[in-house]
Amino acid sequence: MASVKVAVRVRPFNQRELDMEAKLIIQMDGKKTRIFNSKLPPGKESDHGRERWKDFTFDHSYWSFDATESHYASQEKVYKDLGTDVIESAFEGYNACVFAYGQTGSGKTFTMMGTPECQGLIPRICKTLFSRMAAGKEEGASYRTEVSYLEIYNERVKDLLQPSATNHSLRVREHPRRGPYVQGLSRHLVTDYSDIQELMVRGNNHRTTASTNMNDVSSRSHAIFTVMFVQAGFSNNMPSETESKVHLVDLAGSERADASGATGQRLKEGAHINKSLVTLGSVISALAELSSSQKESGPGQRRASRSFIPYRDSVLTWLLRDSLGGNSKTIMIAGIGFSVTLLHSDILVSELNIYLV
Ligand code: ADP
Ligand code: MG
Repeated sequence: MASVKVAVRVRPFNQRELDMEAKLIIQMDGKKTRIFNSKLPPGKESDHGRERWKDFTFDHSYWSFDATESHYASQEKVYKDLGTDVIESAFEGYNACVFAYGQTGSGKTFTMMGTPECQGLIPRICKTLFSRMAAGKEEGASYRTEVSYLEIYNERVKDLLQPSATNHSLRVREHPRRGPYVQGLSRHLVTDYSDIQELMVRGNNHRTTASTNMNDVSSRSHAIFTVMFVQAGFSNNMPSETESKVHLVDLAGSERADASGATGQRLKEGAHINKSLVTLGSVISALAELSSSQKESGPGQRRASRSFIPYRDSVLTWLLRDSLGGNSKTIMIAGIGFSVTLLHSDILVSELNIYLV
């Protein structure tokens, strides 16, 4: 059964926000995130301004301001809540996707990669993957693990581990049995975490970044880091092979083209970036709806609604089709930051609406 989990994570104030004494317009309590609606006219206020707060419920609401609070989310906690699940299902032979969503500066890379002292989901997931494999080998299993790393920029696919003039626009094709794949994408055999780390650094150096008014260097592309592994062993005394894919996706900034003052080429990028993000939002909402309706009715309904999931509308969702829905695990972590002092709280609310499950 499709499993979709959505978490939001607020990042701490940065120096600039501290300097301008930015006000916190968010509260979190258990699964709830409450956002202050500064757009409401003053006359409408009643009951100590309670109507100004809008509540959203997610699978997790992660707080970052005060480490002593119970809903404070360390990297370790985020990993325990979300990462361990991904590993479990990968070893059971299912695919998984983990997405970091949010405006530039909202903490996507921090959540996915983290810092050397404060590692994020990708290093933690990969390390555990190898330690689980080491344990499995002692019980007679064998593994073959490969990695690929690609970027989607302007709806074009580029190989981050083999950048050359010929592969800035790789073709996405569909295999009759195995589904969508990127023609010519390099796959790299890895045997331990240091191999993965090296490939990640190499790939990150090839990511497309460009200046916008909002941030000096902002990521304008979606980066998909994929770990594929085949487990060979015996089940019921018969040799068996299971293949799993884990996609770890650092999405492009979700800021609107007009909010970052983009024109010309930047604006065109914005439209393309949005196409993948908007489609991803629709796909995830549809899957989330499906998984909740499945709980209520039987599997028949699932087959009927499945064809309405708009995978084909963007390169991102098309490429990940066999890892979104079905028996796959999908995890979306939306980062919320407070740069722009939430001039755009309405945008934030509409973004959160997409992921309201
Ligand atoms: P993005 O990738 O969305 O553009 P970053 O991950 O680069 O954003 O985060 C912007 C800054 O905020 C970085 O300096 C990062 O280390 C910091 N940051 C983000 N989230 C957190 C967090 N939960 N705790 C501490 N620092 C964070
Ligand atoms: Mg980033």
